[in-house]
Formats: sequence, C-alpha cells, structure tokens
Amino acid sequence: MTIFLLMVALIAAGVMYGVRARKRRREGLLRSLLTEHDHAVIAQQVPLVARMPPELREKLEGKICLFLDQVEFQGCNGLDVTEEMALSIAAQACLLVVNTDAWYDNLTTIMVYPGAFKSKGTQVDGFVVTQTETVRTGESWSRGPVILSWAHSQQGALDDHDGHNVVIHEFAHQFDDRSGRTDGVPLLNRAQSHAKWVEVFLDGFARHQRLAAQGRQTVIDPYGATGHEEYFATSVEAFFERAVDLRAAEPDVYAKLADVFQLDPAGWS
Ligand SMILES: [Zn+2]
Repeated sequence: MTIFLLMVALIAAGVMYGVRARKRRREGLLRSLLTEHDHAVIAQQVPLVARMPPELREKLEGKICLFLDQVEFQGCNGLDVTEEMALSIAAQACLLVVNTDAWYDNLTTIMVYPGAFKSKGTQVDGFVVTQTETVRTGESWSRGPVILSWAHSQQGALDDHDGHNVVIHEFAHQFDDRSGRTDGVPLLNRAQSHAKWVEVFLDGFARHQRLAAQGRQTVIDPYGATGHEEYFATSVEAFFERAVDLRAAEPDVYAKLADVFQLDPAGWS
C-alpha cells in the first residue's frame, strides 16, 4: 500500500512538473521578440500590422513566436513553405487572438498549397451519395488543420482594405470552433451575453441574406449569406480590413466583435 501511494505521488509530481514546464515555456515564448528581419517581412507582407497601436504590435510578436513553435507548416503540391510564408500566415492568424487569452489550442498543422486547391467531399441526398470536388482557397477543419492557398493568403494580406482575407476567414472558423461547434457563436468573454450575441448576429444575418438576394453592395462579403458560420467569418474579415465601414453599416455586429476580440480596429491609424 505504501509503495502504491509512493508511485501515485511520483506520477502526480511528474504530471505537475510537466504542466509547470509547459506553462513556463509558453510564458517565455509570449515574452519573445521577433528579429529585425522578421519585422521587415511582416511589415512588407502584412501591412495591417503597421496600423496597430504599438502595445498591440508588441503583444502580437509574442503570440507569433508561440504560434510558430506550436504549428507545423506542410507544403502541398511541391510547395516549399518559406519563413516568409510562415510569418505572414502566423501574423494574420494571431491578429484575432492578440488581445485576449483565447488561443488555438487544438491547432498543430497548417497545410499550404501554392494556389487554389481541390477539396473532396460527400453530398447525401436521400439514398443518393455523390462524391463532390470543390476548388477552394482555404479550409478550416474542426480541431484543425487549416488548409490555405499561399497565392490567396499573400494577396489577402497585401490588400488590407478590400475586406477579403482568407487567413483571417479560416482562423475566424478556428476561433468559432473553440466553443465546440463552428456555428457563428464563439466562446464569449465573461461579461458578454450569449442571448444578446445570438440576437445581434441572427438579425445581421437575416439583413445580409436579404441584401445579398437583392444583389445590393454590402460591406460584409455576400458569401456570408450562405450560413451563420460564414456570416461570422466574413464579418471578421470586414472587422479587420473595413473596420470603419463595418462600424457604420452594422454597428451592433461591430460592437460584438470588438468585445469578443477586445480590439477596436476602426480607431487604428
Ligand atoms: Zn468559411
């Protein structure tokens, strides 16, 4: 019995040591700074970062270091993922989590294709099962991985005023999925009301569907009308890239996103 208790105590001590070591490593990475070369790459590839207030840019550096330590980049169709590509994708992904404790805990792999890629799926209609093949520029799987076209990821970041950004879009799905379901209702801050979030986003989604059906110009990409989770992801793209326009067109949606991300990009330079 004594030996058994001793073994239990040793295992518990080992587990505790592992947890503390991981916590120390994480804290160290969050305090890390990027090199001058990394700064230059990010400034060139992700111009949105230069518009952020200095204190957020500093936080972003640590998050990028943590992200690059956690995630493995896999090149597909012969693509060699360069440091420049990894830094660009990491910087964009970390924008969503720069000012909160939210993190992509389940993400370990990002697959990168040189351009748009074919995604296989299955469509079930009654007893008829059809294999489908869709051309995509990005894909986010529940609990990872994220799959990206580098050409579209790079272009999405370089034009930071058009409201289209495939990396932000796919990581909005990852952020959403932290709640256990990718349904347009992410894990909220303690002060946020779940009922109020649902009310604002259902309202915004219905309005967006109506406008998209009429072929009207919208700040949020018309693709957002295809589902609640897509409305959330496309509104996050607009939140970062057309913040002032989104705040004017959909003030309640903007306010909810500002709350959940603890960010106010409409006020960035
Ligand atoms: Zn999507």
